Amino acid sequence: MIASMIMLTAGLSLNGHLPPLIPWQGQSEQLMQTTGPLTTDFELSEGERSPNYQQTVAFVERLVAANPTQFRARDIGFSQSGRAIKMLVASEQSQFSAAMLKNNNKPTLLIQAGIHAGEIDGKDAAFMMLRDIALGKRRDLLSKVNILFIPILNVDGHERSSQYNRINQRGPTDMGFRTNANNLNLNRDFTKLDTPEVRAVLKVINEYQPDLYLDVHVTDGADYQYDITYGFTPSFASESPAIAQVLETKIKPTIDTALAKQGHIPGPLVFAMDKRDFKKGIAGWVASPRFSNGWGDLAAVPTILVENHSLKPYKQRVLGTYILYDGLISALSEHYIELEKAVIKEQKHLPQQLVVKRSYAKQPDLISFKGVAYKHFKSAISGQTEAKYLGKPQQYDALPIYWQKEVAVKVDVPDKFYIPPAYPDIVKKLTIQGIKVTKLDETYSKSEALKQASITNYTFAKQPFEGRFRVDATFNFDVKNSVDLTGWYEVATAQAKGELATHLLHPQAPDSFFSWGEFNTIFQRTEYVENYALEPFARSMLKENPAMALEFDRKIREDKEFASDPAARMDWLYAQTPYYDQAYLKYPILMSFKEK
Ligand SMILES: [Zn+2]
Repeated sequence: MIASMIMLTAGLSLNGHLPPLIPWQGQSEQLMQTTGPLTTDFELSEGERSPNYQQTVAFVERLVAANPTQFRARDIGFSQSGRAIKMLVASEQSQFSAAMLKNNNKPTLLIQAGIHAGEIDGKDAAFMMLRDIALGKRRDLLSKVNILFIPILNVDGHERSSQYNRINQRGPTDMGFRTNANNLNLNRDFTKLDTPEVRAVLKVINEYQPDLYLDVHVTDGADYQYDITYGFTPSFASESPAIAQVLETKIKPTIDTALAKQGHIPGPLVFAMDKRDFKKGIAGWVASPRFSNGWGDLAAVPTILVENHSLKPYKQRVLGTYILYDGLISALSEHYIELEKAVIKEQKHLPQQLVVKRSYAKQPDLISFKGVAYKHFKSAISGQTEAKYLGKPQQYDALPIYWQKEVAVKVDVPDKFYIPPAYPDIVKKLTIQGIKVTKLDETYSKSEALKQASITNYTFAKQPFEGRFRVDATFNFDVKNSVDLTGWYEVATAQAKGELATHLLHPQAPDSFFSWGEFNTIFQRTEYVENYALEPFARSMLKENPAMALEFDRKIREDKEFASDPAARMDWLYAQTPYYDQAYLKYPILMSFKEK
């Protein structure tokens, strides 16, 4: 065992298993300093390494010590293992509070690195940029924007460090792990909020209301020429199309120009349709709100997802990220008023129906794409045809892209949701989401009819996903009259995050609390029923209800299985009695709809 391990190590040099590189040089290499104050660990290692958690915290403290009038560090939360999640606030003239940032006539940019801790480029790029600000080389940056910078969001995953965490990625030498210490993926947690890390980010977003939220990752998939890929929900599939249009027409062109000028190759987010045959095209993924960028789209928070290309060397990726920040800061300072207007427009907009699920278009659009040549070979290892990327550029003039833009499920947006007092955890999560919740006072009753979702069919996932058993269900919507709502919580959808509130609280939405299994207790009937009591009760019930008796007789005549199953017969009768559990399979959150 040990002998074969040693042979394996000797036979494979680090990254020797990865496709060949296309050589790269860029102007951005000039950004690196090798000596002098505040040289980063990344630079000291010539672009090979990223500092560990302690070194990262120490560097944040050195930045603040070097420039206390422009930098301040704070803890925004703690991981389950008790590590502090740091955030650096950078602003001219010690304007560090949320209120000061809001009123200093500059946009605020939130940069988040390491939500997947192995994908840590965003940290080392921002450290170089902040160093250049601290040393006065880039004074211009803080005259344009305020910066909120989270160097590592997934602090526990960051310390599960190894050379062997990401087989598809060229550096840094040691890198963290994707999930947190509880093996939860933070970038699936934006609606259910199970992790303290994502709860911390949402609190920051509520407090500072950044003009743009940037979430920096590294890819997992195919090979191509682009080194810096990024994106956001496109306007044609967006719940905040006014925001998407500003990102498309004002922000993106400036970023792309900055990157190209410095020798980088910006591109779109890429998810191959067939991992072994790239020419079949790419999937135009539209994120649902469990993801940072899907959440931003629904919450009217302009959000950009960066995915640096994992096969490019760490140094090239980090330098490209610095340039992306630089371009984004220029674009934001020029266009933030337009972006703020778009945000206000989207916050005020409430559709009658909300799209909660989209599917992929059958017909592709065609795009020009800078690919990498590959060939096929029959693998004796996998027993199938595999792709081998050849390290040579290949231009596709008409690569199919299948956009996830078709509406699959829409729901009617209620005027209000009503949450029973027994669900304080839901209320707490809504508050962290930035959604206003009102507690109804002591004598509140609703004269108008409310609607309640009753489950008609359901299936539970066979396996847990993100620690939960998700549920798929279909519903009938029943009318409930004169419900006493004393002590309940009211959520009006006519509020800035009304679309997000609708997705979270409507049980038909795939990222609702319901779909994530938050209401799984309603799937169980708990009171017992004895046949010696039910049998005589049912007999007199049928005698007094001829219609029910006819229905029962018809079922026995027409449904042989039912007829021969005493338990099913008694169960059917029990469901007709007033003793039956009226809360069974009933979604407890009620809705009211405005008269049309
Ligand atoms: Zn990622």
